[in-house]
Amino acid sequence: MSGLRRFAAPLRYVQGPGALDELPALLAPYGRPLVVTDPVVQSLLGSRLATLLADLAPAYLVLDGEITAAAADALTADAPPEVSVVVGIGGGKAIDAGKAVSLRLGLPVVTVPTAASNDSPCSGVAAMYDDDHRLASVDKLPANPHVVVVDTTVIVAAPIRLLRSGIGDAIAKRFEARACLAGTGVTSLGTRPLLIGSAIADACYSVLREHAADAVADAQSGTITPAFEATVEASVLMSGLGFENGGLSLAHSLTRGLMVAAPSATHGEHVAWGTLVQLAVEGASDQDLADLRSFLTAIGLPTTLAGLGSTVPYDVDGIAEATMQAPHLANLAAPVTADDLGDAIRRLELSRTAGLCPTD
Ligand SMILES: [Zn+2]
Repeated sequence: MSGLRRFAAPLRYVQGPGALDELPALLAPYGRPLVVTDPVVQSLLGSRLATLLADLAPAYLVLDGEITAAAADALTADAPPEVSVVVGIGGGKAIDAGKAVSLRLGLPVVTVPTAASNDSPCSGVAAMYDDDHRLASVDKLPANPHVVVVDTTVIVAAPIRLLRSGIGDAIAKRFEARACLAGTGVTSLGTRPLLIGSAIADACYSVLREHAADAVADAQSGTITPAFEATVEASVLMSGLGFENGGLSLAHSLTRGLMVAAPSATHGEHVAWGTLVQLAVEGASDQDLADLRSFLTAIGLPTTLAGLGSTVPYDVDGIAEATMQAPHLANLAAPVTADDLGDAIRRLELSRTAGLCPTD
């Protein structure tokens, strides 16, 4: 392999209460915006956006349903020709839809997450699904979002499960980046990671361990505190930079099987549980597993297959087999087999019933 290493990040990132008010000034240099949202965002923020962006004469597209390649093609076909920047506003689907449309139109993209639920807003990739919400492809953009706008007055009003999910998605990054660096793994940029990926993923982990539990409590009372701001920064900015520059690994690979075995759980809930499995595969002590499990439980994240909504009998072998297909599985210090994965999952499920870990 060549010695090249790559780094990617948004050009601008703005976070805080009222950040949405910055959007007109941030978009002005780009010309006429094409705003891609979903029906929920349109009903919540539609009139505010119309007022805010009036001088820029935006065009609007609304994604209704799953973000598939066909849906992205259909949205793109409806785009007027005279737009010059795409703005994805919403949760994961609308952000990915904005990215997918920008890719098809060859335009820069700006993202405005309305929940801190996942690591997508800052990254230069778009996750595309099939109609059954199974990951179909991860499409690479030529550049990361030019601007990311995170208004914490909007984020704090989102359902609490989404904040918890973003924390679950983010907490994995330290372990995934370390595994990618320790072995021969490559990031989504196609090279071995620079050291900065792990540095950011480590910081992400530390911030969440210190502040995330307080942030969840604060969000439940609708209060924007320093702990909440720090947790949003970790879940949106650090989580995104951490995975794109540090690499994904087993925790994310497990989502392949979990999308079938536990389809009602969110991406971040899958990843949080997957982080426990990754630790178990890597030979973590019962004490280290119990420590992470205590943290996840304090956040309100499920730490068992039952908690993820999977039903008995659990298809442990099916989850392991599907996981073996994920490209990120190569980003481990040592290769694993489906049997290794099955053993680790069973160890986790048994450790809880054996009383080694807090119940959830
Ligand atoms: Zn993720």
